[in-house]
Amino acid sequence: MNEEIKHLLKTALTEQRETFGDELFEQIDVPDLTVNVSNTVYRAVNNIEQKTSAIVSETTDLFNSDLTGYKTLDELYENIHDCQKCSLGATRNKFVFGVGNPNADLMLIGEAPGADEDKQGIPFVGRAGKLLTDILKAINFEREEVYIANILKCRPPNNRDPLPSEREVCKPYLFRQIELIKPKIILCLGKVASNVMLNNNDSLTKMRSEDHELNGIKLMVTYHPAALLRNPHWKKGTWEDVQKVRKLYDELNGS
Ligand code: SF4
Repeated sequence: MNEEIKHLLKTALTEQRETFGDELFEQIDVPDLTVNVSNTVYRAVNNIEQKTSAIVSETTDLFNSDLTGYKTLDELYENIHDCQKCSLGATRNKFVFGVGNPNADLMLIGEAPGADEDKQGIPFVGRAGKLLTDILKAINFEREEVYIANILKCRPPNNRDPLPSEREVCKPYLFRQIELIKPKIILCLGKVASNVMLNNNDSLTKMRSEDHELNGIKLMVTYHPAALLRNPHWKKGTWEDVQKVRKLYDELNGS
């Protein structure tokens, strides 16, 4: 199969999974009817990933790591920015720690740095980053008011999804950031980040429709801005999600 077709196929499957989860849906020419087609290979890959994740997750506990000795974000950064705990350390250009207000009440979490982030060492730059900044502006937040970070601090090659082993070994860094920042709301961007934060494998659609809480912090889910660039029709759902975020933020802050 030629590389371009492989890439298109992979993108289409990824988008299907972001929206619907592990089921593969195919639209056929009958109005209002969607047929669920079982895809054995795709499902098998997901099963392997889930099992690997379950095994690895036994070794890490949420908010219970050996990083509690680092009392500020700067101290944490100084001690982890040379990390080589997974193979991504060897291929990164820049470690992407996180950016924003260290006392933010709203924290945004994506899955991993892309090419632009890897070059600059800052999360959510480039086209997806600009869109995120615009989304924040639309609900009256400046980028500097919030804190933005990813599950992984280093870029996976060719922007592939983070492997379960990479997610598990890197997420204690993010959890320590959360402990230090103490946000009131976490907004997860995309399925991967949401699955990692909620420790499940639910579809984005399901997670967007539910209320979540993580160690007393309200957690909400919406689309990843990069997915919105590929699928502008998801902007409406994103707009609804972020309006809820703004409403909750105002309620929690008594305004
Ligand atoms: S992705 Fe995370 S665990 Fe892997 S090398 Fe980078 S900082 Fe370390």
